[in-house]
Amino acid sequence: MAHNFRDNLSINPVFARPGEAGAVHKYTLPKGSMLPETAYQIVHDESMLDGNARLNLATFVSTWMDERADKLYTEAFDKNAIDKDEYPQTAAMETYCWRILADLWRAPDPAGAIGCSTTGSSEACMLGGLALKRRWQEKRRAAGLPADKPNLVMSSAVQVCWEKFCNYFDVEARFVPISMEHKVLDGHNLADYVDENTIGVVAIFGVTYTGMYEPVVAISKALDEIQKKTGYDVMIHVDGASGAMIAPFVQPDLVWDFRLPRVASINTSGHKYGLVYPGLGWVVWRKADLLPESLVFQVSYLGGKMPTFALNFSRPGAQILLQYWAFLRYGHEGYRAVQEETMRVAWYLAEEIAGMGPFELWNHASDIPVFAWMLKPSRGRNWTLYDLSDRLRMQGWQIPAYPMPVDLTDLTVQRIVVRNGLSMDLAGRLIDDIRAQVAYLDADNEAKNADRKAVFHH
Ligand SMILES: *Cc1c(COP(=O)(O)O)cnc(C)c1O
Repeated sequence: MAHNFRDNLSINPVFARPGEAGAVHKYTLPKGSMLPETAYQIVHDESMLDGNARLNLATFVSTWMDERADKLYTEAFDKNAIDKDEYPQTAAMETYCWRILADLWRAPDPAGAIGCSTTGSSEACMLGGLALKRRWQEKRRAAGLPADKPNLVMSSAVQVCWEKFCNYFDVEARFVPISMEHKVLDGHNLADYVDENTIGVVAIFGVTYTGMYEPVVAISKALDEIQKKTGYDVMIHVDGASGAMIAPFVQPDLVWDFRLPRVASINTSGHKYGLVYPGLGWVVWRKADLLPESLVFQVSYLGGKMPTFALNFSRPGAQILLQYWAFLRYGHEGYRAVQEETMRVAWYLAEEIAGMGPFELWNHASDIPVFAWMLKPSRGRNWTLYDLSDRLRMQGWQIPAYPMPVDLTDLTVQRIVVRNGLSMDLAGRLIDDIRAQVAYLDADNEAKNADRKAVFHH
């Protein structure tokens, strides 16, 4: 009874099965099917070549949640957030969450605020920007003034989502360049950029490049001055993708939020320091009338009548449950404990890196647990932060080096984003690895210099 070993799938070793052993189609749909286990193994194995998410110190996005959250996630991954009539409790939990945020961000009347979830801060920023634009247009048209040349004022170090917003929605982007004297948008020279066509000013609360806060109070005061002189009443959108979930816990006395009457709207990424897996964002307006009704659609084909303001229609609902879980699980004290520990790890790393010799910090991790550093100028050194980044990558750490934005593009920095899950223990290992790689690069450097001298003397 000769039995074809290959055809008997229950005894056939996984990597010797048809499909698994043969060539895999990458760019065309395979003609036939394969076993689910085989397909799983192929996809699983290919993804092993991705970096380790926990060692990815380039991203702001959560890479660790508690097992209970994982359980909740698997229970809810089939829920579509848009089906608010079918999943009324997911919709209710979405409302709990943005109301919690409105309160956390000191909306004068959280019940009179309005907000929603999004796929991330990018979408949240688009919605914030669209509300600014539409309000400006409606005001201009009501006054019989042209409304065809809107502009938005922001730092040159904004996250790319603001350049996208301006590009996609036909708004002129007015960038205030950062410099060594003005490392962030701080209200300096703002009057040179604001005019009657300015729909708003973006304050980045946690600059992506460096982790620094833009001083929203100073920006607000500069706009007060501008209003006194010109009458332009320009409001602020705070891009708190990262900082809006740090400051309320770590710097509770810092004023940056709805306590400032000029702050019309604030966004954050639930999946950054909101401590939820990707992708989830939030945007909140201080008062419902700051979100023009003409932007809100009433959708009836899901049953009921649901107001929606979003770029996408379908979107996973599970992250909303995870955010509500995190709010309940951590509470104010828990968020503070987590964020303070994350800050402590960032301070430790910044201090150690500053003390190594070749580096100079661009900023201490004093705002959000993010900091960047530069290489001190040194004659004869022939390695760069890009080389260091490569060497660290070999150890599994992903720590990017990149040029600063316009006017400072000659300057290369390297940045670490510390997140919940990068423990003090791991941080110590990272410092050991950075020291070892600097020593390697220096030794390599000396060897090359010695070679060069030898060639020269020859
Ligand atoms: C991360 C980030 C964004 C984009 O957020 P996503 O949630 O990744 O879409 C926008 N602005 C700032 C300041 C950010 O740090």
